[in-house]
Amino acid sequence: MSGAVDLEGRVVVVGAGLAGAELAISLRQLGHRGPVLLIGDEPHAPYQRPPLSKAVLQGKASEHDIRVRAEAAYAKAAVDVVLGVGVRSLDPLGQTLTLTDDTVVSYDGLALTTGGRPRRLPLGDDVDVHELYRLEDAVRLRQLLRPGARLLVVGGGFIGLEVAAAGIAAGADVTLVELQERLLARSCSPALAGRLASVHRERGVDLRCGVGIVGATRRSDGAVDVSLSGGTTVVVDHLVAGVGQVPNDQLAAEAGLAVADGVLVDEGCRTSDPHVVAAGDCARQQHGWLGRLVRLESQQNATEQARTAAATLVGADPTPAGVPWFWSDQYEHKLQMAGVPEPGCQELHRGEPAGPGPLSVLYVRDDTLVGVQTLDRPRDFVAARKLMAQRARLDLGRACDPEVPLGDLVR
Ligand SMILES: Cc1cc2nc3c(=O)[nH]c(=O)nc-3n(C[C@H](O)[C@H](O)[C@H](O)COP(=O)(O)OP(=O)(O)OC[C@H]3O[C@@H](n4cnc5c(N)ncnc54)[C@H](O)[C@@H]3O)c2cc1C
Repeated sequence: MSGAVDLEGRVVVVGAGLAGAELAISLRQLGHRGPVLLIGDEPHAPYQRPPLSKAVLQGKASEHDIRVRAEAAYAKAAVDVVLGVGVRSLDPLGQTLTLTDDTVVSYDGLALTTGGRPRRLPLGDDVDVHELYRLEDAVRLRQLLRPGARLLVVGGGFIGLEVAAAGIAAGADVTLVELQERLLARSCSPALAGRLASVHRERGVDLRCGVGIVGATRRSDGAVDVSLSGGTTVVVDHLVAGVGQVPNDQLAAEAGLAVADGVLVDEGCRTSDPHVVAAGDCARQQHGWLGRLVRLESQQNATEQARTAAATLVGADPTPAGVPWFWSDQYEHKLQMAGVPEPGCQELHRGEPAGPGPLSVLYVRDDTLVGVQTLDRPRDFVAARKLMAQRARLDLGRACDPEVPLGDLVR
């Protein structure tokens, strides 16, 4: 199964987010000559989502600032962009798509870049729960973040924490509840998560871990009574949920493609159908660098997989997958992470876990770095990514001395 299409063939890209835009443009850069059609159900040209919970929420960036590409770039690459129309169904045998306006579109090669959608909180219709995924969500929420507004953020993941930071910056009273006993339990070391918890508490967030929502009712004055596990209640003006994302893989699943919490793809982003590739948040990939099947939700992964999928479609050799990485901005702090450490790695600290200065956490297996998480230590992050890409063997004797550059540890 090659996944390649005739260079004169028609490629349709479903989902006009970061991965879709990059994939469509990359096809041209790689020499595809046939028609390229990018279809997205949002009304906007492709935009970047990371600023939604950062600069856009704080009123520091507009729709224009966050575009993936200038609109002229699509025209220049002869990519036809159709916005505000979804793809309803996929017929892999007939190689056609049916759109929500009933148009039928045929393809020689198809790329699925449908991303994900926020997981919903199971609360009644009586109460508005804000989510943060689309531009409109960020614009609406920004207007609510006012001095004295009472905000309850549900979920201590990256998006929840960034919303909390934006709320504090706007002068709101912020409470954040997290069901797990600590923040970022799935993705971050206890040391780093503990530091972030201190940062948020110092800024005034009422942070409650090990606490979930039991129910919520709207009062006649518009405020919401939220009952929490443990028997307490908070009264708030607005609720925001940041409780994770689910992949938009239903189009593929209904068409009979292999799906398991994401469209299953190989290292070349090929799905189980020879004419279809998938990339970005919707895809679960056999990852070349990690050596296992993962679904990643990051800007870097979406960009890299988009280029890989485009290479596969034109029959070029894709660049091997690099070290996955991610970042989050909270207040003036930058958290950067690379690799996806598995349990059983040795964990080393550079800096004082109790704070308040910069801190790096290194994850090591067999004298090789397999993960890094840094808070305000960008040099460690850059050096660690390089060492991880090289799978360099390290002399770890001085690894915990923050004055010793990581590059000096190479054997
Ligand atoms: C608030 C927020 C903050 C983030 N912060 C960071 C960060 O700091 N760092 C980082 O690395 N990553 C961050 N991310 C994650 C990053 O933005 C995503 O990994 C990235 O956007 C994935 O790109 P994508 O193109 O795969 O999916 P998406 O950006 O989700 O785009 C998919 C598009 O496809 C459309 N679509 C879906 N189904 C259909 C259909 N049937 N027909 C037509 N169109 C369809 C969707 O509406 C959407 O427009 C953040 C995400 C969010 C939401």
